[in-house]
Amino acid sequence: EEEFAKRQKRAQRLCGIRRRLVVMSGKGGVGKSTVAVNLAVALAMKGYRTGLLDVDIHGPSVPTLLGMEGRPLYGQEEGLIPVECDGLKVISAGFLLRSPEDAVVWRGPMKSNIIRQFIEEVIWGELDYLVVDCPPGTGDEPLSVCHTLERVDGALIVTTPQKLAAVDVMKCINFCRAVRVPIVGLIENMSGFVCAVCKSVTNIFKKGGGRELSEKMGVPFLGSIPIDPEIVAAGDEGRPFVRAFPDSPATKEILKIVGEI
Ligand code: ADP
Repeated sequence: EEEFAKRQKRAQRLCGIRRRLVVMSGKGGVGKSTVAVNLAVALAMKGYRTGLLDVDIHGPSVPTLLGMEGRPLYGQEEGLIPVECDGLKVISAGFLLRSPEDAVVWRGPMKSNIIRQFIEEVIWGELDYLVVDCPPGTGDEPLSVCHTLERVDGALIVTTPQKLAAVDVMKCINFCRAVRVPIVGLIENMSGFVCAVCKSVTNIFKKGGGRELSEKMGVPFLGSIPIDPEIVAAGDEGRPFVRAFPDSPATKEILKIVGEI
């Protein structure tokens, strides 16, 4: 009975969210958080009521990428209140750490508990989009994210262009199919290099790899975001690049992707 009451409460808190999207990757370091943050910021800039949930509990980078480090998280009797940043509502495990250097040493059961709490106990209100920055990989953590959300409307899979990444993408696709999460599509990050001087794009890896891969695997291809030193600088300074560099090739790709999700 208690379980039923809990599920009902969770359903009530989540029911104001129209589109629930998870951003996944087969492994860490491919730019999943950067993509999730910039997609959420772009959606908010377009006037959609948007929430960003960072459940990457081992490396919560969202507060850094948004320049929100050290902002406290407040709770009420009814639940946690998201922290607002330029119209975007944000919840991150990073808000629970005293400093970004603090290590997260939660054990397995605690991990799924904190993930569950983060999803169940937030008062989002009415949202057009909830963008979830998932923990990397296809293990227990993304699984509990998908289960707790109850309904996931789509997954965006972030990858890099190397041939080696194909295995990771396949794992993500199989994961989504197993948990019956529709795949919105594949995003290739760090594809090509933007010259800081002339802004031309050099393809370091074989061009078209991401598109080829998505065709082979039967999922839509959403776009490729080049490697851009400005992205690193913007991220380090806590400014999302879609805001800091509205004319960059990376921003154009993000805006194109936003039109498709
Ligand atoms: P993940 O969430 O997959 O672990 P992050 O989003 O934290 O990856 O990105 C890892 C690092 O790569 C960060 O320092 C980020 O600034 C950088 N990065 C991500 N995407 C790009 C890009 N397209 N161009 C340049 N640097 C990038």
